[in-house]
Amino acid sequence: MAGSGHVFVVGAGFSGLAAALALDRAGVRVRVLEARDRVGGRTLTRWLTDGTQLDLGAQWIGPTQDRMYALAAAHGVGTFPSAAYGTPLVLRDGGRRHGPPPGTDALLAALDALAGRLDPAAPWRAADAPEWDRATLTGWLAGTARRPETARYAGRLLAGGLLAAAPDEISVLQLLFYLASGGGTGSLLGMAGGAQQDRLVGGPAELAGRLAAALPAGSVVCGAPVRAIAQDRSGVEVRTERDRFTGDAVVVALPPALAGRLWYEPALPALRDGLTQRMPMGSAVKVHAVYPEPFWRADGLSGVATTVDGPVTETVDNGTPDSTRGVLTAFCYGDEARELRRMSPAARRAALLDALAAGFGRSARHPDDLIEYDWSADPYTRGCFCGAPTPGAWTRYGPQLRRPVGRIHWAGTETATRWAGYLEGAVLAGERAAAELTALL
Ligand SMILES: Cc1cc2nc3c(=O)[nH]c(=O)nc-3n(C[C@H](O)[C@H](O)[C@H](O)COP(=O)(O)OP(=O)(O)OC[C@H]3O[C@@H](n4cnc5c(N)ncnc54)[C@H](O)[C@@H]3O)c2cc1C
Repeated sequence: MAGSGHVFVVGAGFSGLAAALALDRAGVRVRVLEARDRVGGRTLTRWLTDGTQLDLGAQWIGPTQDRMYALAAAHGVGTFPSAAYGTPLVLRDGGRRHGPPPGTDALLAALDALAGRLDPAAPWRAADAPEWDRATLTGWLAGTARRPETARYAGRLLAGGLLAAAPDEISVLQLLFYLASGGGTGSLLGMAGGAQQDRLVGGPAELAGRLAAALPAGSVVCGAPVRAIAQDRSGVEVRTERDRFTGDAVVVALPPALAGRLWYEPALPALRDGLTQRMPMGSAVKVHAVYPEPFWRADGLSGVATTVDGPVTETVDNGTPDSTRGVLTAFCYGDEARELRRMSPAARRAALLDALAAGFGRSARHPDDLIEYDWSADPYTRGCFCGAPTPGAWTRYGPQLRRPVGRIHWAGTETATRWAGYLEGAVLAGERAAAELTALL
């Protein structure tokens, strides 16, 4: 298995591409092996005939996501602000309201204060980590919120909106890690001034394509699903369905759940495998409802709505500046997303349109189209937005997340300490894995 001077990167999402670019810049010969016939991973853009841009995967970047803004600028991809016209709605108490349930702001502030006591590079070391890791977000909210409606609203917004999970699927420690990693609830949940501030012209997939094109010709091999990684003292062998590649080291830039499905020789340490068994992907449905025009704007509505009940947790106006079409994008998470997947297509459509009509009136029942991509069904993603440790997993397995195993180094947004789960986290994690290797090689 003598090393060939190459480093292999498994996965051409933002993390793998950022790792490859950093390695290339450091003079390391690098090859990226990508399962799909395209790069970009959890990003995908579709265009309507009139030029409306629909981002079916990741779409937003925001302040402090400096590497993403820098990469976009360096590779000639512009940004534009998210649509911001009128008033946001909260659907609660059986009607349309203009503010969240009483006590929501205090709950968010309490969580931000707790997150301030935690180092996102080592959440398991926080003094209260064992207690926070045992507690689910559902339990914490039930014991802290004054009203059940407030607990329900906050649970859907935080576990759902941030991690596409049900609030009893995540620990308080995981939520606090996420808040610490993304700069707190204001930063994570905000539109202007927050993580949903800007979009990329052409979508993130356009930028991914340009990152791949900036690598030396032939560096990215698409249609090459990696099945196995073997290593010994002299090198690594990365096996796809058709080929075997030998090199010095490998960066695995996959979500942990998928990294755990590769075959490793020798077998990975038990603690590392235990970690990947406990980091399931979230479950989100992101549906674009496309209308002839953004009719809600005439009513002074922003298209942003959050909810206490029903299949849709939140909506946004996803129109693009150069298009006259209206796009309301609905997000459904955790149990609601799973329930939608169990429905017949007709029942699912009816459930989604009922939910949109509750916020935006009868016109919402008549979109020209409902467009989505099922990331959970895709074998090379299997869920979204990201993988997250189950309750109890951070304190038992957390230190394994970034610890290299011999010649195997780990990237992917889930391994980031800042903006974990986001495009920015993916880039930072890829660059961190590349730095580990350049220091070694
Ligand atoms: C619907 C949705 C909305 C989102 N919204 C946002 C947002 O607005 N802003 C934001 O910042 N983030 C958002 N995210 C999250 C963001 O997409 C991810 O954080 C980011 O894309 C992760 O990049 P990555 O490189 O770590 O992983 P991935 O993008 O998953 O890349 C992994 C790559 O590995 C490949 N692969 C898988 N298995 C193999 C194998 N066996 N061999 C070789 N290759 C393999 C995959 O095809 C993929 O290309 C969203 C995600 C989704 C799905």
